[in-house]
Amino acid sequence: MFIMKRKSIYSGVFLIVLILAGCGSSNLTVSKSKITGPRNIILFIGDGMGVAQVYAGITLSNQTFSLEKFPYSGFSKTYSANNYITDSAAGGTAIACGTKTNNGMIGVGPDSSSVSSILEIAHKNGLATGVVSTSSITHATPASFVAHNAGRGNYEDIAKDFLKGTVDVFIGGGADNFRARKDSVDLTAKLKEQGFSVVYTLDELKNTNSKKIAGLLAKFHMPTELEGRGDALKHMTMKAIETLSKNKNGFFLMVEGSMIDFGCHAKDFNYAESEMLDLNEAIDAARDYAASDGNTLIVVTADHETGGLTLNGGSMKEHKVTEPKFSGGEHTAVMVPIFSYGPDAEKFSGIHENTFFLNQFLNYFNIK
Ligand code: MG
Ligand code: ZN
Repeated sequence: MFIMKRKSIYSGVFLIVLILAGCGSSNLTVSKSKITGPRNIILFIGDGMGVAQVYAGITLSNQTFSLEKFPYSGFSKTYSANNYITDSAAGGTAIACGTKTNNGMIGVGPDSSSVSSILEIAHKNGLATGVVSTSSITHATPASFVAHNAGRGNYEDIAKDFLKGTVDVFIGGGADNFRARKDSVDLTAKLKEQGFSVVYTLDELKNTNSKKIAGLLAKFHMPTELEGRGDALKHMTMKAIETLSKNKNGFFLMVEGSMIDFGCHAKDFNYAESEMLDLNEAIDAARDYAASDGNTLIVVTADHETGGLTLNGGSMKEHKVTEPKFSGGEHTAVMVPIFSYGPDAEKFSGIHENTFFLNQFLNYFNIK
C-alpha cells in the first residue's frame, strides 16, 4: 500500500516533469543540477585498481584517503566482447566509447569499425579535451579515448591519431612514438604547426601558457613512483585542468594512474601501492578544484583488477598491510569500483556494465 502511494506520487511528478520538458528540456536539467557555469568531467582510471588495491591505499595512507570523500560508489562489470577477463584496450574502449570490443582493440568494435569516444564527441560539441597518463600516451588506456586501431601495440600508428585535432591537451610518456619513428616522420613538427606547445619536461610543462599542449615527458613510459616520479601526476593533472578550463563550453579530461597495473603484474605490492597513493593525490587535487568550481563531475574507476590481490593481515592503526598476496600476475574478472563526486554523482552508484559511462557523460554534458 505504501509502495503504491509512493508510486502514484512519483508518476504525478513524472507527468509534471514531462510537461516542463516540453517547454525546454535543457533548462530543466540545468536547474535540477543547480549548475551555473560550463560543465566539466574529470574521469580518473586506475589501471588494475580493484577494491583490494584501494583498501590497501586507505590502510597505508596516514590521512583521509581522497576516495573516502566521494559520496557515491558503485561497481563496473569489466568482461570484454570476447573474454571474461578484459585487457586494458577493450576495457578502455568500453569506458571511452560505450562499446564492448575484443581484447587488444582500441576505439573499434569487434568488427574493427571505428566507434566514437566521449572525448571525440565532446570535442565535436565545442568542449576542450585532454588525456593524461603516467604510461606512454599511446598506451591502451589513453589511446582508447583518442585513437582507432585494431592492434593496441601499433603505437606509431596510434600516435598519428593524436594529430586529428580531437584532443587539446595530452601529457604522458611516448615521445619516441612521435619523433623517433620507423617512418622518420617527426610528428612533433606537425603538432607545432597545429599550434601545440610540445614540451618534454615537467618544468617546461609548468611554464607553457598554450591552450594546446603535447607533453611528452618520457621516451615511452614515465619512471615509476619507486624510481622517483614524485608528484608529477598531480602537476600534470592540474596543468591539464588549468588549460582546459579556459574553454567557456566546459571540458572532458581523462587521467590514468597507469602503473597500479604494472606493479600488480610484477606481483610487487610496494610498487602497486606507491602508484595507488600517487593517483589518490592527483584525485585529491582535482577534487579540491571540483569543490570550488561546482560544475565539475569527477568519476574514478578502473578498467579491470590486476593480480588477484588479497590482504591477509595488517593494521589500520599502524598503516600497514603485512600479508598482501597476489593470486597471479594477470588481470582478473572481478568487478571494479566506481567513485563519483559532484553534480549528478548519484547516477554512478549501483552495478553497471563498463559501457554505461558514455551515456551518463553525454547526459551530463547535455550533448549527443
Ligand atoms: Mg593503462
Ligand atoms: Zn595489465
